[in-house]
Amino acid sequence: MAMAYDPNNIFAKILRGEIPCKKLHEDEFVLAFADINPQAPVHILVIPKGAYVSAQDFGARASAAESQAIFRAIAHLTEQHGIAATGYRLISNAGVHGHQEVPHFHFHILGGRALGSMLTRS
Ligand code: AMP
Repeated sequence: MAMAYDPNNIFAKILRGEIPCKKLHEDEFVLAFADINPQAPVHILVIPKGAYVSAQDFGARASAAESQAIFRAIAHLTEQHGIAATGYRLISNAGVHGHQEVPHFHFHILGGRALGSMLTRS
């Protein structure tokens, strides 16, 4: 079972406008903004506006419109930031083993350089 949503997590504060962000895309269901600690030349966070903890929570409860909006945003952002052709990586960390720091479902879009193999051991 998914953990309960914490309305005081940092992305909830960004959604409420309590903390600033470098906004890159917004629509009815989705907000995308620059990661504050970028791991690649392009490092974008894509989050639903709804209160979802993780990918499995989103997958279990989100509407078709919310699900579509996330992937439409990813399509738009990869084109807009010039990485659709060169390639990119989508990551969604969840829970303890996934090393999730912020308990609001998000995708990282990483690109702009060759990213190497998928996992590190630390
Ligand atoms: P995760 O480990 O997948 O939960 O990653 C959380 C990400 O959020 C990290 O890459 C952080 O650099 C990023 N982050 C944390 N606080 C902020 C913030 N205020 N604005 C933008 N990105 C943030």
